[in-house]
Amino acid sequence: MPELRQNLATKEWVIIAKERAKRPKDPSSPPRERRKALPFDPSCPFCPGNESKTPEAILTLSGERGWKIRVVPNKFAALWPSGDRLRHMDGVKRWMPGVGFHEVIIETPLHDAFIALRGDEEIHDLLQVYLERYRSISQDKRIELITLFKNHGEQAGTSLPHPHSQLVATPVVPSHIRHRLEEAMRHFDNHGECVFCAMLREEIRYQERIILEDDYFVAFVPYAAFSPFHTWILPKRHVASFGDTAPDEIGSLAKTLKAVLAKLYYGLDDPDFNYVIRSVPSDGRGIRSFHWYISIVVRMTKAAGFELGSGMFINPALPEEDAGFLREVKV
Ligand SMILES: [Zn+2]
Ligand SMILES: [Zn+2]
Repeated sequence: MPELRQNLATKEWVIIAKERAKRPKDPSSPPRERRKALPFDPSCPFCPGNESKTPEAILTLSGERGWKIRVVPNKFAALWPSGDRLRHMDGVKRWMPGVGFHEVIIETPLHDAFIALRGDEEIHDLLQVYLERYRSISQDKRIELITLFKNHGEQAGTSLPHPHSQLVATPVVPSHIRHRLEEAMRHFDNHGECVFCAMLREEIRYQERIILEDDYFVAFVPYAAFSPFHTWILPKRHVASFGDTAPDEIGSLAKTLKAVLAKLYYGLDDPDFNYVIRSVPSDGRGIRSFHWYISIVVRMTKAAGFELGSGMFINPALPEEDAGFLREVKV
């Protein structure tokens, strides 16, 4: 019989309907051909030599042979960095100028590289660049929320195969994020502790949904995962903002993220996925009650009318089995 499960932190309900499951592929099968690309594509705006096809870089990390990572404004930015965050209200109309930041982080000069299959140093550098941009933009008083994310593959919404991540900094906190923050605050008020810390403690106690853990980070499939192989990576230390990640935590985060992405790559045949870094808004109200984390969503199921209408998902996989499967994938 299907089962409804609720995520303690987000309060979202999910229908776990294993009967609808398709078994994951054999972990030993080779990755799909479609990702085979050349290390350089002359028509790609992110490839070396084509730097003039992007706006001027905001940040460049250089290596011995040219740049290693470039951060550029998105050429088709959803928000612009100039202007004031002024709210206007007129009857039913409530609006403000589209101020904010929309940046592209070009992760590597290699067109066909995949971050999880490269050296520890590359992913470490990438996380350092994320942190640097996060901290820098946090200083801007007009910004309320910074979202860092990566889309991998067409199902995940990417239009360019060259490995890149994005940062979008908005002058408002979207209502579903506000709702989660309020739920986290309510939990803190009722129980005197962060709901994510409570969840971590339980997951570590039961172990059955843990993919891997070290001294600083835990990767697990949440009890109420809303889709197959949905994975959360949380710091063990209570810290609300990604910007407050300590220097000694970055190395561990790099190893954890790399290992999880490599397990997905080998275990699930290079699936399309998104990851998002969820961090507290800059008003600082959730410092004690919110806990930053990375959410990885593998694009195996498609949201449709039911999800759109109810906001609720049907997960055809059992989180405990997904975690067990990923634990076993050798990387
Ligand atoms: Zn390229
Ligand atoms: Zn916490």
